Amino acid sequence: MNTANGEFDLSIQEFGHFLDVSEGAEIVYDPAADLMEVFKYGYEKKIIFRGTMSDSARLLEASGTENSKKQIESLYNALKSGKESFSENIDLHKGRYLVRYKVYKNEGNKVYGVFIPLLKGGFIPAYRRSSDKDAMLDMLNKRAINEYAHKVCAQDDCPTTYIIMFDLDNFKVVNDSFGHVFGDEVLHTVTSIINKAIGDHGMVGRVGGDEIMIVTKGIGDKTELRPYMREIRVNVEEQFKDKLNGISLTCSMGAAAYPDHGDSCDKVLDIADKMLYLAKEKGRNRYIIYTPDMHSQLIKAPEKSEAGLKTVLTNNFDKVSIIHYMMEDYLKKGTSSNARAFGNVGNAFNLQEILIVYENAKVGFKWSIDNSELSEADLKWMELNDEFYSQFNKDGMFIVDGLYDLVGEKERYKEKIVERGAESVLFYRLKKDDDYQGFVLFVKKGQRQKWSEYELLALSTIGKIFELSVQGQ
Ligand code: GH3
Ligand code: MG
Repeated sequence: MNTANGEFDLSIQEFGHFLDVSEGAEIVYDPAADLMEVFKYGYEKKIIFRGTMSDSARLLEASGTENSKKQIESLYNALKSGKESFSENIDLHKGRYLVRYKVYKNEGNKVYGVFIPLLKGGFIPAYRRSSDKDAMLDMLNKRAINEYAHKVCAQDDCPTTYIIMFDLDNFKVVNDSFGHVFGDEVLHTVTSIINKAIGDHGMVGRVGGDEIMIVTKGIGDKTELRPYMREIRVNVEEQFKDKLNGISLTCSMGAAAYPDHGDSCDKVLDIADKMLYLAKEKGRNRYIIYTPDMHSQLIKAPEKSEAGLKTVLTNNFDKVSIIHYMMEDYLKKGTSSNARAFGNVGNAFNLQEILIVYENAKVGFKWSIDNSELSEADLKWMELNDEFYSQFNKDGMFIVDGLYDLVGEKERYKEKIVERGAESVLFYRLKKDDDYQGFVLFVKKGQRQKWSEYELLALSTIGKIFELSVQGQ
């Protein structure tokens, strides 16, 4: 699309696609009417300016730096003289932008152009396509918000970016008492409270039933962040106060900053998640922003609820060395038994149970924190049919972050998982002789906890190592 001499040569369709994948603003100028329109990207196109060319020039100059005067002048000279295409960088207060336009003769010489922020790590997609949007709420879906968070953190010199994890308190009771339709209305109301509070200062997305993630933009520290979180907390509380037969529908939030609190997006997500659960534990209707002096102990050494029952045969592996050990001692040398290997895995990942069922439920293995033995009921616990296997993603995992994930056709697995006393489980599908014949189940009991990207990668690798060891037999 960009020819050697810097010409901007796109069809209207290509142009549309270009806008789809880049963030910034879109300009349309109609020379016949001297009408300039500027649209902001988002999944809904919003007009941010409409006026004459000279009005828009004044606006742009006001947002420019000393350096940009010449660049802006060249843009307007090009427009005035009817230059057919233009492509140059312009430095505004907010950063460097690539400005491009092209005249479309078949559209009455209308000028179509874009303003794209140039980030050192490359473009961040605009997230304006419908495939990025949550199916129900006016916000991004889980995939899009996660992707966005990772892209933001991957920028060189990423400015302080807070990740906020939000979850409604007692939403289940509201659902049970007033019905699902009312529950949906609540979610819509909460969405507008959050969207209104965050405005242009971040992206919002739904990561679970009543769990929402916010990635902030341009909020530099805790003091700046507090008013946003307070506004959300207070408005949710006020909105439903005294309206729900004594049920307090409030919200809890946890927040942590990249790069200030962790050197990867996943680490920061994990800390924000932990702060959310701390807020819940402390009695809900509150927000907690991670403060190393106060909370670092919590992050380093998560408390084990059943520490007294911890199996004695295990070594102290961390989450990285455990994979090396699984490959070396378990798979290659064969010097480690299932009991020993999976005991180590369970402890390294703070799991309560690992259940392996294979050869079509004829054989199995169980490790659990309370040393309970594999039973016939464990082997028959899940029906191994096509329906079950179709729940797995392309990486061979069926991921349940919390029971709220089990909606639609997955709902039928809810009872099964509740039966196991679990909330967050991860299945890894096992193959033998090119046929699916079972699974490895990783279980976190009690408090539900979202699986981090790292856990998914590591535990599915461990599942694969087990599969290889069985195939080798
Ligand atoms: P907590 O204070 O611990 O967060 O408890 P909670 O009652 O809010 O329960 P939790 O967050 O664990 O579960 C959220 C509930 O939200 C579970 C499910 O009944 C409900 N839910 C999930 N998705 C939807 C939805 O799309 N619409 C409605 N109406 N309810 C939903
Ligand atoms: Mg909740």
